[in-house]
Amino acid sequence: MERTLTILKPDCVRKQLIGAVIDKIERAGFRVVAMKKTRLTQATAGEFYAVHRERPFYGELVEFMSSGPCVPMILEKENAVADFRTLIGATDPAQADEGTVRKLYADSKGENIVHGSDSAENAAVEAGFFFSAEEVVRVD
Ligand code: GDP
Repeated sequence: MERTLTILKPDCVRKQLIGAVIDKIERAGFRVVAMKKTRLTQATAGEFYAVHRERPFYGELVEFMSSGPCVPMILEKENAVADFRTLIGATDPAQADEGTVRKLYADSKGENIVHGSDSAENAAVEAGFFFSAEEVVRVD
């Protein structure tokens, strides 16, 4: 079993797509092991995306990610990291495969509905960013 970290981004929450996206996630075989609704500040959004600090879109990204509530989740499945990235599709919805979350719901490369970790190592770091050990409870 592997874990990945996703965030249903502020555009997902604003468009009232939390349920639709979680439905796709669960139907694809992921188990939700932790979930909360929260709001990032500019400082915490900047820290989460620190790897992109030098990129031209960093300011826009921080602004967007702190623009409203979001829903981080830890998901578990075999091959979770890669399978989740397949489920959500390419960063730019225009490039995303048919049926992927971003193709279905995203407006742009910036406002693209969901985050998905790019490695199991980063997933663990990102999970620790949002959740304490007591909040990670897989009971089923
Ligand atoms: P991801 O792994 O598919 O989320 O993509 P990246 O790691 O390359 O980028 C992280 C996030 O930065 C993306 O999900 C977008 O929200 C945002 N982003 C990436 N490229 C752009 C861009 O060209 N413009 C803007 N505004 N945001 C971008």
